Amino acid sequence: MNAVPRLVLLCDDASAKIAPVSADCQIDECGVPAVGRCRNCSRAFCVTHQGRVLGGPVYVDRCEPCTTQDVQRRRDHDEQFGPSFVHSGRARTVLATAGVPTVEIHTVEQHLKVTRLTLRVKKQWTTSAPFGHGWLLGDLLWQYNAGGPGGGSDNIEHCLTALLRDPVPDKNGVIESGLVRVAEDADRGGYILLKSSYASFSYGSDSGWSGVAAKVRQLAG
Ligand SMILES: [Zn+2]
Ligand SMILES: [Zn+2]
Repeated sequence: MNAVPRLVLLCDDASAKIAPVSADCQIDECGVPAVGRCRNCSRAFCVTHQGRVLGGPVYVDRCEPCTTQDVQRRRDHDEQFGPSFVHSGRARTVLATAGVPTVEIHTVEQHLKVTRLTLRVKKQWTTSAPFGHGWLLGDLLWQYNAGGPGGGSDNIEHCLTALLRDPVPDKNGVIESGLVRVAEDADRGGYILLKSSYASFSYGSDSGWSGVAAKVRQLAG
């Protein structure tokens, strides 16, 4: 699963630093004088058959067919194990098709009433409201603000994570791709949605997304 080839960028100005190759382009029986040799397939390539990504870099050691293949392979990998697996809705489809049960998720809000003069707490109560349903994925790595004075995403830890069954509009960045932090509600049953500002699923880490994919497939059997 880790066999995805990495594109190595040696030079972003293709014409400048390529050492001359005394060979003709071997891609598609092209025959034009070559400007480089592919590190992957060892074939010489000309400027036309040099690897490049549309709107992206030009590669000095990759031919065009190999680059296209790499890009496709990376796209496939992303769709199977990366963010696209969740963003595209495929993760939900996999879980729903397998009939994996969802749990109920609700919000809980604390309310306080204080006396105006002494600021003593006169009344204290909580309310809860339904939020949605989701699949419990288990503990995954999160980055979020714990309410500390420093602000920012000061907490990085594993949190019980659910994938919401129905897409929810993004509220202040709390909901990302339908992945939410939850906690079991011992009093009411079901699960409490944990809100915190700047909360984001740790999408920066590849293991985070492949972790989601692994949990989803594990649940779906
Ligand atoms: Zn090649
Ligand atoms: Zn060529």
